[in-house]
Amino acid sequence: ASQKPRPAEPGRRRPSVAVQIGKVKVGGTAPIVVQSMTNTDTEDPASTAKQIAELARAGSELVRITVNTPAAAAAVPRIAERLAMMGVDVPIIGDFHYNGHQLLEREPACAEALAKYRINPGNVGFGKKRDTQFASIIELALRYAKPVRIGVNWGSLDQSMLAALMDENALRADPWDASRVAREALIRSALDSAAQAESIGLARDRIILSCKVSGVQELIAVYRDLAARCDYALHLGLTEAGMGSKGITASSAALAVLLQEGIGDTIRISLTPEPGASRTGEVIVAQELLQTMGLRAFTPLVTACPGCGRTTSEFFQELAKTVQEHVREQMPLWRVKYDGVENLTLAVMGCIVNGPGESKHANIGISLPGSGEAPAAPVFIDGAKAMTLRGDNIANEFVGILDDYVAR
Ligand code: SF4
Repeated sequence: ASQKPRPAEPGRRRPSVAVQIGKVKVGGTAPIVVQSMTNTDTEDPASTAKQIAELARAGSELVRITVNTPAAAAAVPRIAERLAMMGVDVPIIGDFHYNGHQLLEREPACAEALAKYRINPGNVGFGKKRDTQFASIIELALRYAKPVRIGVNWGSLDQSMLAALMDENALRADPWDASRVAREALIRSALDSAAQAESIGLARDRIILSCKVSGVQELIAVYRDLAARCDYALHLGLTEAGMGSKGITASSAALAVLLQEGIGDTIRISLTPEPGASRTGEVIVAQELLQTMGLRAFTPLVTACPGCGRTTSEFFQELAKTVQEHVREQMPLWRVKYDGVENLTLAVMGCIVNGPGESKHANIGISLPGSGEAPAAPVFIDGAKAMTLRGDNIANEFVGILDDYVAR
C-alpha cells in the first residue's frame, strides 16, 4: 500500500461561516489557513516588515502583529508600504489589547491597512467600560469593513465572567469541577462577545473565534465544546506551547486531535524560538502538521528511514538533510504547484532492507548502499528503477533529478 498521507475524508469538516481576510478566506470550504505572529517591535517598520516578509515567504498565509502603542499604530501603514515595495502580499492582522479602540480611532491609516482586528475580550477594559470599549472596536470594524477575531485566552480571562460562573456553579445540585467552570467561562466569554458584536451589526461572516489555553487536554475539551455550540470559523492554537520539541509535540498533539474531528479553520503554532533562531519555525511546523495529516499539500514530503547500524557513514543523514532543505528552500516557488494537489513524496533510504520498497512507493526515491552492499544507489521514479548513482556527487545529482521531475 502507498505510504502517502491519506487525504482527509471529505465531509468531515465542521461547517463554519467563511470569513474573508484580505485575499484569504478562512472557514467554510476554504483550506485550513496557516498563520503566524511577529515578535519584532511594531514601532520599527523596517524590522517588522522584514520579519513579515520572512514569515510570508516561508508560507504563512496571514501574519499578526501587535499594535500596542500610538507609535506602533502609526507604523502600520509604513509597514504595509514596505511590504508592497518588497512585493509581499500577505494580509496583516492587528493584535489589540486595552487601547485598541483609541489606536484605531486615532490612526485611520492603520485601521485601513490592517486586514483584520484581533480583540481579546478579557483585555478590553473592566465593568461598564469593557462593554463600551468593546463596542467601539466593533463599530470601527464596521466603519472600515474589517473582520475581527474574538480571541479569548486563559491567561487573560474576563474575571467578572469567571466570578459569575463560580457563583452560578455553587448553586448547582451537581457542581462542576474547577476546570469545567474555567472552560465554560472561556467559551461564554467568546460567545457572549460574538453575540454583542452581532447585536452592534457585525455580520457572522466577519467573526472568527478562538479560546486558547496551554494544556493539551484542556484545549481539546474547550474546542470540542465551542465547535458544537456555534458555527463561527475557528482559529486553533495551543497558547504558550513552549520551546523546541516540547512546543512542537504539545501543539501537534492538541491540534491533530481537533483537526481530525474537522474542527479548526486556521491554525497558529505558538513556539518560543531559540535565541537568535528564525521565527519561521512555527510556520514550517504548521504546514507539516497539515500536510502529514493529508489536509493540505505545500511541499514534497520527504520520507527517510531513521538509519541504523547498516548505514555505513553520515552520508545518508547528510543526503536526507540536503533533500529536506532543498525542498524547503524551493517551497515559495513550488507552493503554487503543490497546494491543493496530491502530495508528492520523496524517499531517502539507508540500505536495501526497506530502501527499494519504500522508494518504489514514493514519486522519487533513492536507496543508498548500506554496509556490505555494492557502492551504488538506485533511484526510483514513479515506482520504476530509473538509474543508478555512484561516486561523490550523489546528493547534487539526486536534487537535480528532483528539480527535473518538478519542472515536468
Ligand atoms: Fe537501517 Fe536499512 Fe532500515 Fe534504514 S532501511 S533503518 S538503514 S535497515
